[in-house]
Amino acid sequence: MKYDRENIFARILRREIPVQPIYENDYVLAFADISPKAPVHVLIIPKGAYVSFDDFSLNASATEIVEMTRAVGKVARDMGLQESGYRLLSNVGPDSGQEVPHYHVHLCGGAPLGPLLA
Ligand code: 5GP
Repeated sequence: MKYDRENIFARILRREIPVQPIYENDYVLAFADISPKAPVHVLIIPKGAYVSFDDFSLNASATEIVEMTRAVGKVARDMGLQESGYRLLSNVGPDSGQEVPHYHVHLCGGAPLGPLLA
């Protein structure tokens, strides 16, 4: 799938749409989900143009992969979720219901989340 430069997260990265960063560095941006499904619901995205985890895992540099992983862990700790725990989720493609075609990790927590696959 070709990367769509007009997807909403690309526009957020270009600051065409305002965003309040929860965390940002040269490689990643983290911000609150506009429609939270948990008391804490943060989206962590790479700044590189990757459609999904599939694209990212295949084409991102080792540095980008490390930075993304470190950022997810840092945001979880900064949000105070280290002890209580949290859920990471990334939708890939049509069967997952992925809405935004820019790779993102959902970080959810702040309350018991229930089983994912009930
Ligand atoms: P997906 O289904 O692609 O895994 O999840 C996309 C997520 O992006 C959804 O949880 C949705 O609420 C969130 N989202 C969509 N548009 C915006 C937006 O403009 N701003 C923010 N902060 N979140 C958005």
